[in-house]
Amino acid sequence: MSTVIKNARIITGEQDYTADIFIERDKISTIGMNLPMLADRMIDARGKYVIPGGIDVHTHLDMPFGGTTSSDDFETGTRAAAFGGTTTIIDFAIQARGTTMREALDTWWKKAEGKACSDYGLHMIITDLPDAHLEDMNEMVREGVSSFKLFMAYPGVLMVDDATIFKAMRKTAENGGLICMHAENGSAIDVIVRKAVAEGKKAPIYHGLTRPTTAEAEAVNRAIALAEMAGVPVYIVHLSSNDALERVAQARDKGVLAYAETCPQYLFLSIEDLDRPNFEGAKFVFTPPLREKWHQAKLWEGLKTNSLQVVSTDHCPFCFKEQKELGREDFTKIPNGGPGIENRLQLLYDGGVNKDRISLNRWVELTSTTPAKIFGMYPRKGTIAVGSDADLVIWNPTTEHVISAKTHHMRVDYSMFEGTRVKGNAETVLSRGDIIVDKGQWQGRTGRGQFIKRDAFGGAWK
Ligand SMILES: [Zn+2]
Repeated sequence: MSTVIKNARIITGEQDYTADIFIERDKISTIGMNLPMLADRMIDARGKYVIPGGIDVHTHLDMPFGGTTSSDDFETGTRAAAFGGTTTIIDFAIQARGTTMREALDTWWKKAEGKACSDYGLHMIITDLPDAHLEDMNEMVREGVSSFKLFMAYPGVLMVDDATIFKAMRKTAENGGLICMHAENGSAIDVIVRKAVAEGKKAPIYHGLTRPTTAEAEAVNRAIALAEMAGVPVYIVHLSSNDALERVAQARDKGVLAYAETCPQYLFLSIEDLDRPNFEGAKFVFTPPLREKWHQAKLWEGLKTNSLQVVSTDHCPFCFKEQKELGREDFTKIPNGGPGIENRLQLLYDGGVNKDRISLNRWVELTSTTPAKIFGMYPRKGTIAVGSDADLVIWNPTTEHVISAKTHHMRVDYSMFEGTRVKGNAETVLSRGDIIVDKGQWQGRTGRGQFIKRDAFGGAWK
């Protein structure tokens, strides 16, 4: 099967020009003006942008949490992602305490196999790292799982101590893996949370009020210091506040290899959403929590100045009914997470490009190119070039729609961005040369997604 996309206004992280794109099977084979070759299929992209497929490096599909499971699995999650122009995700396998990373990897491969509709990679969450198992990290890197997530929060469940973090970091100096950090001081937060609950403060708003920005900034600072001592890069996940952002910016000014992502929820929502009546605040319970509104402008500024390099979603959906409701009497029992895998490009385009906060190129860089580079998938993914996978989005900059749970494709009964009008959306989406979404219709095949073996010593090391 061959496809030609005519009159494409090609937008990559660096370029903006008009040409035709010729696709043979799953790869881009030629890019040029007025290509003469005949293809099995022709798409006219006049008046639209063609961008590399979005890459969301932070998702939690089919993930157990607090006695329940995130409501999108690899099928519904990757399909919803595609509707919004995201064609690659990196999800998290979780090594449960007392088990091996190999067991976790096999478990997550089974979750994805026969289900994923587009390509996916996996990070490994390490919760338990006795010295005898340090070598397991090398095995993961050889399997293409070249990034690891560690938690400085959730004591007794996911949190690891500084010695474990430092040992893991030193190991990545050998194997080229990248440490991703959930940076919040979990021990201090735990004390604050217990006191609040003892005082009967159990509504969703207390989820936000018990996790101060200082707890995030302290942990970001510590994570960066540990990485500096180990001589390795570090990647801060879901950065939410200006205090934390300042620590990353300071480190980068010194030349430390510190990287950070933020998520649409921190750019568009605030702690006021946690205070919505009738327990609706529960829809916005995730960590780090939503912050005061003024942080939003600082995060946008960080995206512009490259103190922040990536926008991911931390997509971790739980239905309001029966799942979020588990915490009706006590916010600590509300499953932590929110849905967003479908809306990332739309929100960043409308709130960023249309509002003149970021350029078209920067939009692509934040949502595709830099994620591909940092996580060892470039130039196979993240750009439009000869030899790259034909993961392409034909983006219509003029279509408008209102984000709503009534029309979204995620398997969850609410939207965090309900009622938000956005201009610009994915119109036709290709994954390795297959058209998987066309004008609002699903055309992909369940299970066609492939596991991506990612390279070690990716862009974060350079
Ligand atoms: Zn997460």
